[in-house]
Amino acid sequence: MEIRRFGVVGAGTMGAGIAQVAAQAGFDVALVDVAPAALERGLAAIDKSLDRLVAKGKLDAAARDAARGRIAHGTALEALADRQLVVEAVVERLEVKREVLSALDRLLAPEALLATNTSSISITKLAAATGRADRVIGMHFMNPVPVMQLVEIIRGLQTSQATYDAVEAATRRLGKTPVEVHDSPGFVSNRVLMPMINEAIYCLYEGVGRPEAIDEVMRLGMNHPMGPLALADLIGLDVCLDILRVLHEGLGDPKYRPCPLLVKMVDAGYLGRKSGRGFHDYAAAG
Ligand code: NAD
Repeated sequence: MEIRRFGVVGAGTMGAGIAQVAAQAGFDVALVDVAPAALERGLAAIDKSLDRLVAKGKLDAAARDAARGRIAHGTALEALADRQLVVEAVVERLEVKREVLSALDRLLAPEALLATNTSSISITKLAAATGRADRVIGMHFMNPVPVMQLVEIIRGLQTSQATYDAVEAATRRLGKTPVEVHDSPGFVSNRVLMPMINEAIYCLYEGVGRPEAIDEVMRLGMNHPMGPLALADLIGLDVCLDILRVLHEGLGDPKYRPCPLLVKMVDAGYLGRKSGRGFHDYAAAG
């Protein structure tokens, strides 16, 4: 099946980026978020990102307007009823994702495909919330979506080869590189990344270094483009905590235990860039 009508649920950091990239690639896109304010923020983020591409000379104004014109939006899932592929990008909570996937399953045509952008939750478990486990797959985009090349593609136990082939082809049409990995907590990306971020937070918690020092060591010493605490702020500290909890529970190994400082930061509402403060302060930068 060639996919033309693309849907995205959740207009947060990831959903907005996925919708933007799909529209730029020529897909007919519908973007839905239950929270009107979140939808507005997501659309504003898309506008800002497209304008930045125009300012840098990477996109002309006509292409920007055409891409923006391809994104329909709404706050009811019904706006996705005619989609051939819907990517779920709501919060990293099993119950919320199960509810959204189950509602989409009831709404979409039987042949439509459901992808989840989960960072860590079992695709097999999420697929079981639907009556179409063979047409459910993991499509794990990286943040920021318009910039990052990789999409981890994860098959659940029952995902069919036809689903895999259609989603791999759609990923290439988005201009991304698909890499297949197996269904295991955190897949490959977060299985490796999150323990590093957690360890950097432990370094701060135990007074081994200040946030600037920890990030600088990893940037200059390991050639990482961004330090682990700055990266956690970009990802969202709530998202990092949710992923670490899935790794901790799913793999049953205490090495994945979230650092108490991370839990405290999330309890305080310090969620990183999106809240203006995380391990670094973003309020001054607006
Ligand atoms: P976010 O908090 O920025 O956005 C989530 C959005 O989902 C919010 O706008 C919220 O209003 C919406 N939402 C919640 N419940 C909903 C529902 N029932 N129906 C429709 N919309 C609903 O989160 P995010 O960072 O964009 O993460 C989304 C998903 O992508 C998560 O599964 C996360 O693990 C994954 N992910 C995140 C990153 C990252 O760096 N932030 C990277 C890769 C994958």
